[in-house]
Amino acid sequence: MLIVPEREIADLMTREAAFDAVEKVFAAMAAEDAYNFDVIREAIGHEDALYGFKGGFDRAGLTLGLKAGGYWPNNLEKRGLINHQSTVFLFDPDTGKAKAMVGGNLLTALRTAAASSVSIKHLARKDARVMGMVGAGHQATFQLRAALEQRDFEKVIGWNYHAEMLPNIEKVANEAGVPFEAVPLEGMVEADVVISITSTFAPTIMVDHISAGTHIACMGTDTKGKQEVAAALLRRSTVFTDEIAQSISIGEAQHAIADGLIKQSDVHQLGAVINGAHPGRRSADEITLFDGTGVGLQDLAVASAVVDLAVEKGIAIEVDF
Ligand code: NAD
Repeated sequence: MLIVPEREIADLMTREAAFDAVEKVFAAMAAEDAYNFDVIREAIGHEDALYGFKGGFDRAGLTLGLKAGGYWPNNLEKRGLINHQSTVFLFDPDTGKAKAMVGGNLLTALRTAAASSVSIKHLARKDARVMGMVGAGHQATFQLRAALEQRDFEKVIGWNYHAEMLPNIEKVANEAGVPFEAVPLEGMVEADVVISITSTFAPTIMVDHISAGTHIACMGTDTKGKQEVAAALLRRSTVFTDEIAQSISIGEAQHAIADGLIKQSDVHQLGAVINGAHPGRRSADEITLFDGTGVGLQDLAVASAVVDLAVEKGIAIEVDF
């Protein structure tokens, strides 16, 4: 069995490799070559932790396994550790033997950023120039860094509930050589692409905040009850997602479906656009909305890519298991 420790991931994994792995696995999911298993998520009654498993099998890429982990809210204060902790386990689909154990913390951020980037590549207008960010936490920096590679953006505008966090994303914009401006939520109308990546349970982005022709990637809602955008915005948009079953149960679409504003058949797989089975954006003034809920197959895809890179570079630790 191979081990790729968390400390090695930053030097091994590139945004390009994460993007390719996620784009391929979304395509495989839409072609029904890959499927996710039901998600297990448990409040374990210890350290207020939420722990769970996300797994799947990709017949096309021959990737089988799971990501185990979750959220330990006291880690940072009590132990100086990050609160999100996860590990990916890969298995040989021919034999069931354990194949690799891979640190999953940085990979989670990279695969989540890759998902919104893939949506921007396939759904945003080609002439998009203003990038809008709602959210400025840990994931937001990865999201922005990856998104800026998808179009010739000339400006980043940002809003965050905790305004004091905005310098996190301003720094990323500046490093990419793109000017940054903090705006009120109403100012988001200037954006051609918006990413929302917050942990809110009440919608902050309303229909009036998003202009015709915008692509919005909603990346924060990954649990029942969370909500970043008004349900009415989903009715106004063409809705895409990584996986329909998750979108309607734990993603943004859960609310629009519950309110009777859209039907399950109104939610389309991004993979179908990648495969050419769905036309994607049909006009310059259509609003496209990607409901990125985060699937286990994304984790397996990037972990598998990083194992290959670690083997290539002689960094993977081999243990007799
Ligand atoms: P973080 O704690 O670093 O940042 C939280 C962000 O949410 C900050 O911008 C904060 O200001 C904002 N926020 C908090 N309370 C708010 C409120 N009441 N109203 C509006 N904004 C509020 O968290 P993170 O690691 O950046 O994760 C952000 C979200 O993304 C979480 O909900 C997390 O579960 C989710 N996530 C999704 C995926 C996926 O695959 N879709 C993957 C990883 C994380």
